[in-house]
Amino acid sequence: MLQLPDKPVSESTRAQLQLLQEEVNQIPDFAAQVSKAQGLWRSKNSGNRARIAAFEEVKRILKSMSVAVEICNYCEHNEASDIEHIYPKSFFPSRTFRWENYLLACKNCNTALKNDRFAILNEADEVIYLKRGTQPANDRAAFINPRIENPNEFIIYDALSHNFVVIPEPDTADGKRAHVTLKILGLNARDALKHARKTAYENFYNRLLVLVQQLEARDWETLEPLLSPDADRFDRNQPLQEIQQSLKTALQKHFQKSPHPSVWYAIKLLGRHDAKWARLFNAIPEALNW
Ligand SMILES: [Zn+2]
Repeated sequence: MLQLPDKPVSESTRAQLQLLQEEVNQIPDFAAQVSKAQGLWRSKNSGNRARIAAFEEVKRILKSMSVAVEICNYCEHNEASDIEHIYPKSFFPSRTFRWENYLLACKNCNTALKNDRFAILNEADEVIYLKRGTQPANDRAAFINPRIENPNEFIIYDALSHNFVVIPEPDTADGKRAHVTLKILGLNARDALKHARKTAYENFYNRLLVLVQQLEARDWETLEPLLSPDADRFDRNQPLQEIQQSLKTALQKHFQKSPHPSVWYAIKLLGRHDAKWARLFNAIPEALNW
C-alpha cells in the first residue's frame, strides 16, 4: 500500500455529497442512520442527473489517484473496480458521503475481505474489533488510512519472505494498527498476492539489470540482442545515446505503471545496503527517484 496523492473534487460534486450526507446526519438513531446511509449509497446512480454526474466524477478522480494503472490500492494486484469506504458506512454512516473516505479497491479486498471488518483503538490503545449493529465508541481507526497516512511507515515489503513486515514495535499503537491492517486485508495470508509480489520483485530486478547492460553497450552489435523484440523499435542508424535515453525513459514509465508499487518502494530502500541492488542503482542513480 502507498499513500494516495490528494486530489479535490469539483464544488458541485462536493455539494452533492454534502446534501446526501446531511440526509443521513439528521437522523438521530444510529441504526436508522446506517440503514439510510446504505439505502442512499445503493441508489446513488439512479437519482437525478447532477447526482449521477457527481459519482461519475468521484470514480474518475479516484481512478487517477490509484496506484499503477487503476489497480486496487490495497492489494496492488487486481483491477480497482469499487468505491471503497475506508471507514465502513455500517459503522460510520457520518462518513458515507465524505470524499476523504473513498478510494478504489478490487472486489476481493472490498467485498470479500474488508467488507464490514474494522477496528478502533480505545483510550488504552487496545484494539477493539467492531461488531455489526453497534455504534463505535470513537473514530480512532486501527486501520491505516492511505488517504492521509503513508502505509510504508507502518508496513514494508520484505524481499526474503515476500510478505509485509510490521515496522513499529508490536505493542505500540502504530504497531497494532499495522497488524490490524494486514489482518483485515489478508495481505500476507493470500498466496496469490505473495507469489505476485515475488514475481514483481524479480521483474523489477531483471528489467533494471537489462537496462544497465543496454546503457553499457558501446555499439549497436552489443545493444541489439538486449532489445525486446516486441517493444523496442530502433535501428542501427539512430545515435546510440538517443536509443539509450529512450530505453531509460520507457522503463521509468513502465515501473510507474506496474502493479505492486510497494515492492518497488522497498527495493529503493534496499538499494542502499544490498550489494546486488546497489550495483544497479550505482549505474542508474536516477532510478532511486522513479
Ligand atoms: Zn485488492
